[in-house]
Amino acid sequence: MTKIYCPKCRLESKSSSKIHRQGSYYRTSDSKWIQRYKCVDCSHSFSNATFQSCYKQKKRHKNEALRKLLSSGISLRRAAILLHIHRITVVRKFLFLGIESEYYFNLANLQKKKAISIQFDDLETFEKTKYKPLSVTLSVETDTRRILGIEVSQMAAKGLHAYKAKKYGHRKDERKNARRRLLKKLQQLTIETPIIQSDSNPYYRRDVKHYFSKAKYVQYIGARGAGTGQGELKKLIYDPLFSLNHTCAMLRANINRLFRKTWCTTKKKECLYAHLMIYARFHNETLI
Ligand SMILES: [Zn+2]
Repeated sequence: MTKIYCPKCRLESKSSSKIHRQGSYYRTSDSKWIQRYKCVDCSHSFSNATFQSCYKQKKRHKNEALRKLLSSGISLRRAAILLHIHRITVVRKFLFLGIESEYYFNLANLQKKKAISIQFDDLETFEKTKYKPLSVTLSVETDTRRILGIEVSQMAAKGLHAYKAKKYGHRKDERKNARRRLLKKLQQLTIETPIIQSDSNPYYRRDVKHYFSKAKYVQYIGARGAGTGQGELKKLIYDPLFSLNHTCAMLRANINRLFRKTWCTTKKKECLYAHLMIYARFHNETLI
């Protein structure tokens, strides 16, 4: 058993304090008895629950079910109906699950064997309106389709949207920084001389060479999307970027806000990232 310490004394960086047991209480949300303690030095009282990530959550038994629903194409509001909890509770849990999933997603990736071959690319979506597009940069391991990293960044509207997007003011393109953040993270997850594949975006090569000077880097010319693959799966007999495109199609199929022709859209960039992390953890742990 791990040593129990007084959270208040530790905060005031006292080296140690004497702790006594002081009764217990029954937690109804998961039917467990929780031991309480009291610090003799500062008379602060606390319990085993104080140190847990779900501390103060009243509906902790719904967390796991919600995590699965949010990774399976269910919207936040529909999840609230299905789980018989308030939609505000769902939002709070969604943010909690986002942080928790990011931690476990990164931890699991660091513990796995280093990737030999990886693919990366951008997927486009938007926040609130199509005039405020977002870019999701993601990378997968080629053989297993394991998601290695995801970054979300804003970008300026392109093509026909650019003119109408003027009313929202100047929108800074942050894709370059996001790509570099991702490549930097990938350094820890790959061998020193990995094979890296991507599409033929002219900006990619310089960044890849900067972070992976010894890598074998191959670029492929993009192909037209097949109708049923929703633009992600290509009309090719052999798609060299299949692992990545398949994963993008999985994101589109399982994250409600990324569906094509959807009512449900992203309102905040940070929440898109949280939702992607919830899915990525589920994808790596359960789906592949
Ligand atoms: Zn104390």
